[in-house]
Amino acid sequence: MKDCLFCKIVGGEIPSKKVREDEHTYAFEDIDPKAPTHVLVVPKKHITGLKEAGSDQAEIIGRCHLAAAEIARQRKIEDGYRTVLNVGPKSGQSVFHLHVHLLGGRDLRWPPG
Ligand code: AMP
Ligand code: ZN
Repeated sequence: MKDCLFCKIVGGEIPSKKVREDEHTYAFEDIDPKAPTHVLVVPKKHITGLKEAGSDQAEIIGRCHLAAAEIARQRKIEDGYRTVLNVGPKSGQSVFHLHVHLLGGRDLRWPPG
C-alpha cells in the first residue's frame, strides 16, 4: 500500500535490520527497542490492524505469531517473552500496518501499562 511505512520496509524502500523472512511474513528490529529483544513481525501483504482483519486473514495473523515464537526460540528467551498487538490509537498503535511486537530478554511486568 502506498504511503505505508511497513509496506515500504517490506519492499526494501526504507531500510530495516532484518531478523527473519519467509513467503508471507517479514521480521525486523524495532527502531526504538523497549526490551533487549524487540522485534516486529509483519504480514508482507498490507493489513491495517487487528480490528480491520477478517477471517480470510486468520492464517497470516497466526503465521506472524509463529514467526515470533521461532525468533524467541532462536534467541533463547523462552523463559518469558510477550507477543503484543496494539489495536487503535488509544493502545499506542502508531503504524497502521498490522505488526506483532516480540518483547523479551528482561522481566516483563503484568498488567502492561
Ligand atoms: P505501534 O506503536 O504498536 O504501532 O508500534 C510501532 C512500532 O514501530 C514502534 O515500536 C516503533 O518504534 C516502530 N518503528 C517505527 N518506525 C520504524 C522503523 N523505521 N523501523 C523499525 N521500527 C519502527
Ligand atoms: Zn502496509
